[in-house]
Amino acid sequence: MSSHSAYEEVNQRVRLAGEILNIDSGVIQAITACEREVVISIPLHRESGIDVLSGYRVQHSSARGPRKGGIRFHQDVDLDEVRALASLMTWKTALIDVPFGGAKGGVTVDSSKLLPIEKEEVIRRWTRTLIHVLGPNRDIPAPDMGTDAQTMAWLMDEFHRLEGFQPACVTGKPVGLFGAAGREEATGRGVAQIAAATLKENDRKVKGATVAIQGFGNVGRYTALVCQELGMNVIAISDVTGGIFNKKGIDIKAIFDVKNLSEVSTDERIGAADVLEVECDVLIPAALGGVINESNAEKIKAEFVIEGANQPITNAADQRLNSMGIMIVPDILANSGGVMGSYFEWTQNIQQFSWSIEKFRKELDDRMEQAFTNVHKVAKKHKVDLRTAAFIVAVGRVSSAFSVRGSLV
Ligand code: NAD
Repeated sequence: MSSHSAYEEVNQRVRLAGEILNIDSGVIQAITACEREVVISIPLHRESGIDVLSGYRVQHSSARGPRKGGIRFHQDVDLDEVRALASLMTWKTALIDVPFGGAKGGVTVDSSKLLPIEKEEVIRRWTRTLIHVLGPNRDIPAPDMGTDAQTMAWLMDEFHRLEGFQPACVTGKPVGLFGAAGREEATGRGVAQIAAATLKENDRKVKGATVAIQGFGNVGRYTALVCQELGMNVIAISDVTGGIFNKKGIDIKAIFDVKNLSEVSTDERIGAADVLEVECDVLIPAALGGVINESNAEKIKAEFVIEGANQPITNAADQRLNSMGIMIVPDILANSGGVMGSYFEWTQNIQQFSWSIEKFRKELDDRMEQAFTNVHKVAKKHKVDLRTAAFIVAVGRVSSAFSVRGSLV
């Protein structure tokens, strides 16, 4: 496999953790492999004729529970990326100790070019074709880039037609349709809380700390809002339409509801990628993978990088940033509020008992703090960076579940 494989990049992390923990190499081989991969075709009837799209569901691991992971609609989705994201879900759910394995889905399509009715047809077809591998105790999808609560509502409806009423079959649903109050903001809220905890841990002030964020979708938007609520100063933000910069701080509340940042009237425009190179205390990539790589690692001027997106930093760039003294909080910890929130939604659906948003937020904050503290403890014990520490915790838990279940016999 080429060194450009995102999946191989994750597996390098797993093998390193396995070596540190002295885990049998056969076990490491077994837990890095994907349990099941399904590739489907989705014929989409459009005005211009039929487009045949490629769809995926990769189930990486069920060692610790039903597989869990989002569905991405993006033009760059391919099998390698879905494998990488599915495996990250395995390590993330293990790190935060929720009873799930890992999975990911995707469709290779630019979601911004789909009409709502086309998007509905794509997700319904995806669900129908994959129905035999889905379900509340098998594999539970959620939103990711290019999909949202409405997409999950269509998925739930299609699932109900085929299998009967089971709202726990998918998470990230609208609050009016068995969704959980707090889930939509959960990823961004968690990222912002982790940013604040990182500043405190390093004896920096949260109030007035400068923040730059790439992405103004589900994750970036709520991250920015909660950073502002916690007293940080968001000085730069970008989305696919470009970026804005304001040394004194951008009022995120005022722009929260715009669809694209190009709609914001300001003179201080920067390029979508320039936001990564802004001088700031905290940099939060919260859009695409691989955006910090060998070509721009040297230009990063932040003191801390909090990974809101999955795999925003390549392994080579990660090494470079570490040697530059930049502290990185890895994706499987920093953005784990999303799957933590999904876990809360799933348990509420199963019990048919809903929580208040206050209870949701408190549970989320408490459990994120526990995970953060644990990763720091392990980093100190093994004298390793936070990413290696997070993988040590996750790989330790998955390998022992795998071994104790008797999968080797
Ligand atoms: P989204 O589709 O809601 O938003 C994506 C954002 O990225 C948009 O603002 C888009 O304009 C921006 N973007 C796209 N291309 C860009 C570019 N070239 N430059 C700058 N900005 C660009 O997606 P999301 O759900 O917010 O997911 C973002 C990242 O967070 C992904 O890596 C995803 O895997 C990860 N993540 C999401 C969740 C979740 O709960 N949604 C949870 C954990 C991790």
